[in-house]
Amino acid sequence: MSNAAAAHGRADERVPYQLPFPPDVMAEIVIPNAASGDERLWVPQAPNVWIRPLLFNVSAGYWMVVLRVRRAGVLTRHRHPGPVHGFVLKGRWRYLEHDWIAEEGSYVFEPPGETHTLIVPDDVPEMMTFFQVNGAMIYVDPQGRETGYEDVHSKIALARKHYTAIGLGPDYVKQFIR
Ligand code: FE
Repeated sequence: MSNAAAAHGRADERVPYQLPFPPDVMAEIVIPNAASGDERLWVPQAPNVWIRPLLFNVSAGYWMVVLRVRRAGVLTRHRHPGPVHGFVLKGRWRYLEHDWIAEEGSYVFEPPGETHTLIVPDDVPEMMTFFQVNGAMIYVDPQGRETGYEDVHSKIALARKHYTAIGLGPDYVKQFIR
């Protein structure tokens, strides 16, 4: 880069982009207090297990949530056909199938083909982890026999049912869908 170009870069670096976005760009999502905030927004998934919806992507088939598990909660054994990314926001947890522990601040990559069971140690009252889950979760018994599945559409249905039941209405979930 020439000195003139570098100088030019500095001169306009705080000038916003001046053109309209492409016509088909989706609306952004901004969620304040995404790991706390309004208790009503936590969708019960199992005893002592909740999800806080952030984004349900129905064209690429993935979902992004904060998972909250309180003491004695278990995220039932499941297989991932697609990758998962996790970042631990609070507390600690582990999988019955691995000997490592995910602690606050940890990043976790779960490769396609993983089957695991998430538990929270007895001395941890609450954990929260930001997860991006791609494709599906296939619930299995210890021998791998399928017992059910979840995908972005079943997650939307779960959230819609909860938000409808507590009076926020069936359309409340739409703000998270892209
Ligand atoms: Fe998983």
